[in-house]
Amino acid sequence: MRPVELQRYIRTIPDFPRPGILFRDITPLLGNAAAFRAAIDAMAAAAEAVRPGAIVGIESRGFLFGAPLADRLGLPFVPIRKEGKLPAARLTVEYALEYGESRLDIHQDALEPGTAAYIVDDVLATGGTALAAAKLVELLGANVAGAGFLIELAGLGGRERLAGYRVDTLMTFE
Ligand code: AMP
Repeated sequence: MRPVELQRYIRTIPDFPRPGILFRDITPLLGNAAAFRAAIDAMAAAAEAVRPGAIVGIESRGFLFGAPLADRLGLPFVPIRKEGKLPAARLTVEYALEYGESRLDIHQDALEPGTAAYIVDDVLATGGTALAAAKLVELLGANVAGAGFLIELAGLGGRERLAGYRVDTLMTFE
């Protein structure tokens, strides 16, 4: 299945979780084994190109793609979680969302300094979440090799916000 064919497995829900938001629901893609595998194949190919040393997944839907990607590439998986969920010593950054604001944590010992980390999430919207993840990676002394997303929402400025980082996306919604 080619990436362009994967687009039909994304369901659009208007006004969720708030009026005015067009929510891109990935559950039909997750629910189709061939589509899910094709998505992981394509994301793995993009990530492999920058030869990362670790995959960093952003809670929670970033875990759904980041963990299989890490397994596929034989790389360690590092979770970035919403504030207060990680048990050991951690670093925190605050960030703004398309809807609301939040904080993200990473374990202080999650990445060796100098590691090339590849950040994974399901959707790139304003880029605030991924930028916060990049900050956490860099606070640990690691480097951002790139960031991979299943979906890019064009017109929200995410790609511009991540200028300076390599950004890979499988499909774009206007
Ligand atoms: P942002 O920080 O604005 O790039 O938002 C990205 C995060 O919010 C991702 O973790 C997405 O899962 C989620 N998100 C933002 N906007 C949407 C949307 N329209 N549909 C689905 N998920 C979204």
